[in-house]
Amino acid sequence: MNILVLGSGGREHTFAWKIAQSKHCKNVFVAPGNSGTSALGKNLDLNVNDFENIKKAVLKHQIDMVIVGPEDPLVNGIHDFFLNDEELKQIHVIGPQKEAAQLEGSKEFAKEFMYRHNIPTAKYQSFTKDNLDQGIMFLDTLEPPYVLKADGLAAGKGVLILEDLDEAKSELKNMLLDAKFGQASSKVVVEEFLDGIELSCFVLTDGKNYKILPTAKDYKRIGEGDTGLNTGGMGAISPVPFATREFLDKIENKIVKPTIKGLKKDNLPYNGFIFIGLIKVGDEPKVIEYNVRMGDPETEVVFPRLKTDIVEIFTAISKQTLSDIKLEIDSRAATTVMLVSGGYPEAYEKGKEIYGLDEIEDSLVFHAGAQRQNDRIVTTGGRVLAVTSYGNTYREAIKKSYQNINKICFDKMYYRKDIGFDL
Ligand code: ATP
Repeated sequence: MNILVLGSGGREHTFAWKIAQSKHCKNVFVAPGNSGTSALGKNLDLNVNDFENIKKAVLKHQIDMVIVGPEDPLVNGIHDFFLNDEELKQIHVIGPQKEAAQLEGSKEFAKEFMYRHNIPTAKYQSFTKDNLDQGIMFLDTLEPPYVLKADGLAAGKGVLILEDLDEAKSELKNMLLDAKFGQASSKVVVEEFLDGIELSCFVLTDGKNYKILPTAKDYKRIGEGDTGLNTGGMGAISPVPFATREFLDKIENKIVKPTIKGLKKDNLPYNGFIFIGLIKVGDEPKVIEYNVRMGDPETEVVFPRLKTDIVEIFTAISKQTLSDIKLEIDSRAATTVMLVSGGYPEAYEKGKEIYGLDEIEDSLVFHAGAQRQNDRIVTTGGRVLAVTSYGNTYREAIKKSYQNINKICFDKMYYRKDIGFDL
C-alpha cells in the first residue's frame, strides 16, 4: 500500500516510523513532513488544508490510505472531501468526518454531546455577545477559579483559568465583545473548575467497535514544576502510574462506551482516533475535552508501545472490522522529552544546526520542527525533537532519555529536566 500521512510534527514522524515497519506498506509519503520523515519515505510540499493539491498528489502517487495527523483538516472536512469526490472515494481516510470532528472543533458541541450521553464532565453554560449578561450572572454562581473557553479552535490558547471574579467577568467581555481569540471566541463556554490530576486516554474506533490504546500523561507547561506558559507539550510518559486497573475500568465503562454509543446514536460516522482529555477527581474520571486525533507528544510514547501492525489496524478501521484486531502492547514503559528552541512558546530563532543525532544509543529520536538542509539538519520550529526511551519502569526510561539528550545540542536548546518526577 502507498500511505500518505498529513502533518509535520513529532506525531507524524512517529506515525510514519510505525507505518514504515508494516509488511503492508510499500511507500510512505508525508506532507509536508520534516527531516525525520524524509529519512523514512518521501516528503511532499503540501499544505494540510489545501485539499485540491492533496488530491493531485494522492492521484499522482497512487495513494491507498491517508492518515490525518492534526485537527485542522478534519474540522475543515478533509474526510468528507474524499468521500464526495468520484476519484477519491475509494481511498481510506483515517480521521472523522466534519460533523463528528466538531467534538474538537466546538467546545459547546462537545459539552452538549457529553450531557446528552451522561458522560461525566464539568458543569457548564455557553454564551454569545447576545446573552453576555447571563454569562456574568452564571460566573456569580461559581466558585473560583473560573474556567473560560473559546468555543472554536484556538491552537491550545483559548482557555483561561482565572482566580479573580472581576477579572473573569472582564475576560468574558474581552472574548465575546472584543474577539480576544477572533472568531473562535464569538461563543464562550464557562465551566466549573475541576481539581485533580490529568491524563489522556486514546481510543481507536471504526464507529462500531473500539480499542483502547495505552494511557499517557503529558507535561504542558514550559517550566519545571509545571510552571509558566502553556506549550504544545514538553514531554510524556506511558503508561500512567496512577491509572490502576479499577480506574481504567471506570474510564471504559463511564466514558469510552457511552462515547462510542453516543456517536452511533447521534449518527456521527467516526473512524479514527479519539483522544479523551481526562481529569481524575477523587477516584472518578471526568472529561475535560475530546480531540479527534492523536496527541503530540503522547503519540511518541503510545505508538512505540504498540506492537500490532498499524496498517492492519487502520485497514480494520476502514472496513469496520476493528473487533477482529488484537492489540499487543509492549509491557515496558516509554517516556519522551521534547527539545525546544530557546524562547518557545514565545518568539524563538530558527535555522540552528542540530548536532549529535548520530551518537544516540538505545533511544528513538522523533523529529518535529526540524528540516534537512543539504547534509545538515536545522531547527525550523519551536518544538524540535522528541527523545523517546523504553525502560522496565518509567524512571529507567526517563534516565535513558536524559542520558541521550546530553549528546544532542543546538544553539539555545531548552528542555524540562523533571518529566515524570512528579509521580
Ligand atoms: P489543548 O491545548 O489540550 O488542546 P484546549 O485549548 O483544547 O487545550 P482544554 O483541553 O479544554 O482546551 O483546556 C486546556 C487545559 O485547561 C486543560 O488541559 C486543563 O489543564 C485546563 N482545564 C480545562 N478545563 C478545566 C476545568 N473544567 N477544570 C480544571 N482545569 C481545566
